[in-house]
Amino acid sequence: MGRMDDRSVIVTGAGRGIGRAIAERLAAEGAAVAVTDVDEDTATGTAAEIGGKAVGIHADVTDPGSVRAMVQRAREEFGRIDGLVNNAGWDKIGPFVDSDPADWDRIIRINLYGVLHTSQAVVPVMIAQGGGTVVNIASDAARVGSSGEAVYSAAKGGVISFTKTLAREVARHGINANCVCPGPTDTPLFSSLFEGNDRLRDALVKAIPFRRLARPDDLAATVAFFASPDATYLTGQTVSVSGGLSMV
Ligand code: NAD
Repeated sequence: MGRMDDRSVIVTGAGRGIGRAIAERLAAEGAAVAVTDVDEDTATGTAAEIGGKAVGIHADVTDPGSVRAMVQRAREEFGRIDGLVNNAGWDKIGPFVDSDPADWDRIIRINLYGVLHTSQAVVPVMIAQGGGTVVNIASDAARVGSSGEAVYSAAKGGVISFTKTLAREVARHGINANCVCPGPTDTPLFSSLFEGNDRLRDALVKAIPFRRLARPDDLAATVAFFASPDATYLTGQTVSVSGGLSMV
């Protein structure tokens, strides 16, 4: 018996990185997982490797039509949706004063609007079912700031604030909503941001009390807890999984 048996969960951006680890962990605990990603090949590939009840579905979180189609497909596959993990995210690092508004737009559309679109498509389903759980992946950049990530920090801060208000609005329907904030985590996104800057990467690792980057599995364990029946009385909370880099 797994604590996620008989539960179905949508994970966005689950083709690789943290989202993939979350999908694997939830499936290992018994959940039927909709592995969704804008990169359809990684979504279907990850779902095939997980096997069992996992299904790979294309979804671009910036596009409400694409999100609605994905949610419809997940409902057809599983009959119900018990969990939503908003993991899809993106960033481009650089000083704010030199940044391009076209990049602000992309950052906000993926990181903030993405969460709004999926929540508006899934939460009514959970309300009709009489319960559910939402876990949003924010960032420590939102909690403590991060040089070079001004607009991303703003978008993720928006995710944390949105989650708190959503949590208040839907608690009476038996739905909880919480945020998990990764610290620096060893993923393809992190590698691309620090490519060619080993000194900065090493300095960052030295600043982490546990002296290593987070592994996607570290995040997945915390997300699985929030998505599980063990966390039904927890809502509106924000937890950092950062090896102690931030203690907020
Ligand atoms: P990643 O780039 O390795 O994986 C992100 C996935 O999201 C990719 O598969 C990508 O295709 C998908 N994606 C991107 N745009 C999308 C869209 N419009 N619609 C659907 N899917 C989309 O990144 P990661 O490091 O695994 O990050 C996962 C989450 O954790 C993100 O929300 C990120 O902001 C957050 N985060 C990561 C770190 C870190 O150090 N890696 C730190 C703090 C927060």
